[in-house]
Amino acid sequence: MFLSFEGIDGSGKSTQARLLADALRAEGRDVVLTREPGGSAGAEEIRRLLVEGAGERWSAETECLLFTAARRDHLERTIRPALDAGRIVITDRFADSTRVYQGAARGDLRTMVDQLHELSIGVEPDRTFVIDIDPAVGLARGQARGGNEDRFESLGLGFQEKLAAGFRALSREYPGRVRLIDGSGTPEQVAERVRAAL
Ligand code: C5P
Repeated sequence: MFLSFEGIDGSGKSTQARLLADALRAEGRDVVLTREPGGSAGAEEIRRLLVEGAGERWSAETECLLFTAARRDHLERTIRPALDAGRIVITDRFADSTRVYQGAARGDLRTMVDQLHELSIGVEPDRTFVIDIDPAVGLARGQARGGNEDRFESLGLGFQEKLAAGFRALSREYPGRVRLIDGSGTPEQVAERVRAAL
């Protein structure tokens, strides 16, 4: 089983991915918890190229290629082997992040994103949980935890709102796979909503 968590920065998706992994492990299941960009040695190197440095280091198009290259490595080295061994894979971000960030919010590149996905990735999670929160809350959480250590988190409220709208639109585009989860309340309350959706 292949599961992904998605959402804007500060949505709590990483916490939820970890809570679900912990809960499934407590039930005796074999779980691989991983993340993007990253999740394999090569993809973590690409992550450094993507998140370090200030300003517009890459065009949206180049960024799209780098995220896709990182995803390909993650898929080959981490996700596929784990799924083939019958393990549950939970990833903190996958292709939906690229659909929203590069496809809709940072650039208008959805066609390119879809073509690259078809060419070199080709798989979707069985279920995707979008942790949906008020963009102002996400931004405040990001700033509270130090924010700004990567260049993407300094883009402001208008950008967060575009992202949140993009993730909501994905839940309408893929109604079976993508589940919108109310991200308000305590982490435990949100985790219960995730379990109900799973
Ligand atoms: O989820 P995480 O904080 O690890 O992501 C690292 C950074 O990369 C974030 O600031 C996120 O906004 C950005 N990102 C992006 N495009 C993607 C995936 C992540 O700009 N496709």
